[in-house]
Amino acid sequence: MTAIATLGSHCALQVLKGAKDEGLKTILVCEKNREKLYRRFSFIDTMILVDSFLEILDPKCTRILEKNNAVLIPHGTLIAQMNTKQIESITTPVFGNKWILKWESDRHLKEKLMHRAGLDVPESLRTPDEIKKLTIAKRHGAAGGKGYFLTTSKNDYIKKRNHLIRAGLIKGDRDLYLQEYVMGVLAYLQYFYSPLNETLEFFGADKRHESDIEGLARIPAQQQFPDYISSFNVIGNSPMVLRESLLSEVYDMGERFVEASKKLVKPGMNGPFCIEGTYDQNGKFWAFEFSARIVAGTNIYMDGSPYSTLLYDVPMSMGRRMACEVKLAIKQKKLDKITT
Ligand code: AMP
Repeated sequence: MTAIATLGSHCALQVLKGAKDEGLKTILVCEKNREKLYRRFSFIDTMILVDSFLEILDPKCTRILEKNNAVLIPHGTLIAQMNTKQIESITTPVFGNKWILKWESDRHLKEKLMHRAGLDVPESLRTPDEIKKLTIAKRHGAAGGKGYFLTTSKNDYIKKRNHLIRAGLIKGDRDLYLQEYVMGVLAYLQYFYSPLNETLEFFGADKRHESDIEGLARIPAQQQFPDYISSFNVIGNSPMVLRESLLSEVYDMGERFVEASKKLVKPGMNGPFCIEGTYDQNGKFWAFEFSARIVAGTNIYMDGSPYSTLLYDVPMSMGRRMACEVKLAIKQKKLDKITT
């Protein structure tokens, strides 16, 4: 029997519940300090207790995964806690494309892929000297928005950058990526691409609640503190439904992204992914980011989303969708087509 395995964080509950709903075995690689939390859920069949998620590379862990024919579902915690080399050296079959995760972590590769997909991407700046208008400084990797800041001049940038260096969050300019700030309605578009039946499914959209930029927006400008450095640390997500007239462009963007990925990083963007950006005042979507794996924003749709309801007659979470794909691949003897 095949098992679905993942790391105990991010969207592990959704992923393993979905796998269990599809009758698959479930394995959680769990840090010891979170054992109590995850023991509460009966759909977790096996726990591999570790001190650090890096132990997923150790033979002790890989042997158990191998014995259970496990497929590993990568998520944001895997990317945040392991570097590209470590991720690429995972011997357990990884759902989707583990090679594309490098393109998610590196802002410059990321930009290249988004441009190739024909997405409108906010302009990036090569050096702080180019800061002329409202600019966002972002850290590389899946930092979850922590330590990001807004700035409008080089002097202000240097002050805030130095603050982050003192706080130990970055080492210097090289750790920051500067991008034009686009004002509007933020939307995180969740997709699933199946290489088995070559179809793209739009699964849902969500909003992110980020602290403390969200809190700052509730304070009138006169009461705000001029030297305050806000952050974009994600605290949670809530559902969003788009105007129906926006949907055909949503599908077009997703399809172009899948096509571009096939060309730039084989075997392409298989499985779940997310295109993240802002709708401006003209309803134009500016993509500032993508995630090349399941995003935590899908956790709000454990029982299915308004869009998955249009495609499936059973409550279909992204976790369950991946389990369905694994089952189909096993039936068709094509597991190698959906894992790397
Ligand atoms: P990211 O790591 O690129 O997902 O960015 C984290 C958060 O920063 C996003 O959820 C947005 O709130 C904000 N953000 C990032 N880039 C931009 C941008 N170019 N314009 C406006 N907001 C942005």
